[in-house]
Amino acid sequence: MLLPFRHRSKLNSKIILPPLPTLWMGNIAYLDRDGVINYGSENYINSVEELVLFPKIGESIGKLRREGFRICVVTNQSPIGRELWGHENLAEIHDHLSELLLEQDSDAFLDLILYSPYAPWEGSWARKPNPGMLEAGRQILQKGSTNPEREISLFFGHNWINEFDESKSVMVGDRDVDMEAARKFGVRGIKCSPEEGLPGVLNQIFNRG
Ligand SMILES: [Mg+2]
Repeated sequence: MLLPFRHRSKLNSKIILPPLPTLWMGNIAYLDRDGVINYGSENYINSVEELVLFPKIGESIGKLRREGFRICVVTNQSPIGRELWGHENLAEIHDHLSELLLEQDSDAFLDLILYSPYAPWEGSWARKPNPGMLEAGRQILQKGSTNPEREISLFFGHNWINEFDESKSVMVGDRDVDMEAARKFGVRGIKCSPEEGLPGVLNQIFNRG
């Protein structure tokens, strides 16, 4: 199986999660990256220089964490599978992204960054619209918070028995593939505008109706 990748770590390595500003009740905000945290581009975000964050994005992610959400970025990154550039380039972009967010808001910590490096034709379960990254994200964050000393065994697809309550979690994305991944996984999907990103739908996350 073509598994998701995790920023600067093996997928199943143990994870040390910093405490949330509030008690964690299991809520996760699964966030697409381009069009949600930073402006997207038809030609991909290929370097640190091309990364431009939405206004107030640090504050938005900080607020999610202050309201009890762990943050799990789930991003398709096919340029790697298309052999345009490699994992290290993406890792540098994600290091920079994390730094910029924390400069804006000291609570705006990305608890987990998962990405799918595969090209569409590879048919990976980890590539949205499939839900593999969300399945991995839940298990890593859940097991990391209950058993931080252990390596993490992960289950996917038919082997993944969803024993966790996703009813207070949310997946935010700007495209149909994000909403499809949310539906397949069983979490509420909120579609944002690629011009406004997460800050434009933040109120919808808290106002259920
Ligand atoms: Mg997007």
